[in-house]
Amino acid sequence: TGRAAQAAPIWAGTPPAARADVLARAADLLEQRSQPLMGLIMREAGKTLANAVGEIREAVDFMRYYGAQVAAQFDNARHRPLGVVLAISPWNFPLSIFCGQVSAALAAGNAVLAKPAEQTPLTAAAMVAILHEAGVPLGALQLVPGPGESVGAALVAHPQVAGVMFTGSTEVARLIARQLARRLSPSGHPIPLIAETGGQNAMVVDSSALAEQVVLDVLASAFDSAGQRCSALRLLCLQEDVAERQLAMLRAALQEWRMGNPDQLGTDVGPVIDETARAQIEAHIDRMQAAGQVVTRVQRQGSEPLNGHFVAPAIIEIDSTERLTREVFGPVLHVLRYSREQLDRLIDGINATGYGLTFGVHSRIDETIAHLSERVHAGNVYVNRNVIGAVVGVQPFGGMGLSGTGPKAGGPLYLHRLVQGQPGAALAVVPRAEGAWPGQALLAQWRLPSLPGVEPAQGRAIIDAALAAARAGASWLMPGPTGESNRYRLLPRGPVWALPCTPLGLLHQVVASLASGNPCHVLLPEADAGCAALWQALRAAAGDEADAWLPSAQGTSLDDAASPMAAVLFEGDGDALLALAARVAAREGAIVRVESRSSDELLAGQGYDQAALVHEQSISTNTAAAGGNAQLMTMA
Ligand code: NAD
Repeated sequence: TGRAAQAAPIWAGTPPAARADVLARAADLLEQRSQPLMGLIMREAGKTLANAVGEIREAVDFMRYYGAQVAAQFDNARHRPLGVVLAISPWNFPLSIFCGQVSAALAAGNAVLAKPAEQTPLTAAAMVAILHEAGVPLGALQLVPGPGESVGAALVAHPQVAGVMFTGSTEVARLIARQLARRLSPSGHPIPLIAETGGQNAMVVDSSALAEQVVLDVLASAFDSAGQRCSALRLLCLQEDVAERQLAMLRAALQEWRMGNPDQLGTDVGPVIDETARAQIEAHIDRMQAAGQVVTRVQRQGSEPLNGHFVAPAIIEIDSTERLTREVFGPVLHVLRYSREQLDRLIDGINATGYGLTFGVHSRIDETIAHLSERVHAGNVYVNRNVIGAVVGVQPFGGMGLSGTGPKAGGPLYLHRLVQGQPGAALAVVPRAEGAWPGQALLAQWRLPSLPGVEPAQGRAIIDAALAAARAGASWLMPGPTGESNRYRLLPRGPVWALPCTPLGLLHQVVASLASGNPCHVLLPEADAGCAALWQALRAAAGDEADAWLPSAQGTSLDDAASPMAAVLFEGDGDALLALAARVAAREGAIVRVESRSSDELLAGQGYDQAALVHEQSISTNTAAAGGNAQLMTMA
């Protein structure tokens, strides 16, 4: 850490375009050296050849994408890096996720400590060597291999670490969030944490879907990479009218998949990562079988005897979404039948798992696609295609709820979380929404002649600034290949909790929540008549909509995981902020971001960053789906 801290100012002072050049050089080197690296990835992580190609491609994409972004948008005076950033990555994408984290942090000007997974340090070391060769100073990027519980945990706790990027399990992410809540950044704010975690990913297939295409997309989604993708399909929901036929086709097609050594070109499914993983997945399948759920396993194997941690892919017919408790990270697909009338209940059940990473729908009815895409909570939605293999800059990737904090990797907001930018700087780079989103409309109409405790002109300026910064509801098309439409949009994040200590703070918090389309639950400071009077005035101004947008938080507790909380806006600093951060981190469920401003910062006009109050969603649609739109067939 000492060496990183020393190197940090030099790398931070390098012009963004020069940092981008270094990353572009590393991308070129990676492409030139791809063959030996692919061999390493196949041997170290057990990946098939096709998956190893995917690793190289994604790593190269990340370096070029983040490099291009800083070269075009960043300048060192306005975008000051965090300092020393810790990047902790998983084994399942030993090159691409490792490189994605590291290159983003470097592009933004940070010094990086990179902690790869225990299982895949060699691939990480090869990537680091390439980045050094391309021109990243040795001190600005250091590889710190070792066990998560010792090396990883010690680095997270280190006072010099000013930001953490983590990809891995939901459980470890929570440990890290709790540890980080114990200290503040040099600027006195909570330490930024980007956590990308697991999923309980579902796909709904209705009776209009093209069965043959469903087979291809389902098998790839569930069993490619031996199911060891965070995006992999875990729960296939088949409309009961077509379930029998569709399942028969799936089972038959699965028998054609070949399990074997990944160095054989004919291999579809390689091993899982280690013996612990193998035993856990087999135990899950045994438990399901013992509970009376029907299990089908793949039978086809290559000619060589299998010597390693192989798990034959399994399809398990289950009777309820409640059978799914935690993520099973392997080649196991659960199948559930549903009736058309129960579709909404089914989606509610999927949402109730608390995860929200990928979701798929196969249907030829536009209304069904639109309805499900609106109702489901998922960061990446896929229509009439598989649910894996998000492409950098095309399908920015990352989930909500238990699946991660955002911002999305390979998306427009990611790098802004790695710098101390001005509030609003991240959202300023994206287009505005067409029309006013609910909440924004209310705010725009607000006539507030007298605000207790706030000057009228100051109040109006705060509202106008928040509306100008607002991007919730924005939606636009990303570049992508012909035959695919890729939409990216910003949605309100959910209930925001506001903890002011002055009327000015309260106004800032309410206005930021509403401008980003979120209801605001205010916990008023005790015995503060000024805040109470302002809150009453704001509720009065909201009229009939007061209960929807400014519900009373009276009697609800911050610590109760049952009260939904998407983000917290806090006025204060020091010990009060630390105490609050610890309470929020101790809650069960998803990691909740705390945005703080001291009263002085608010007085100086620094409001809250609405980037903390939106969710990003990517919707990728296969517009060339064979079979076309069923509406055309029913037109008179
Ligand atoms: P993991 O959580 O066990 O380990 C991830 C990393 O955290 C490793 O480097 C590990 O050494 C480190 N670690 C472990 N304990 C730690 C601690 N106490 N403090 C600090 N670091 C610690 O996960 P894994 O088994 O390597 O990866 C699989 C998981 O990753 C799955 O849950 C998968 O869904 C998830 N994943 C998510 C995404 C995403 O983008 N959302 C992508 C890939 C994988």
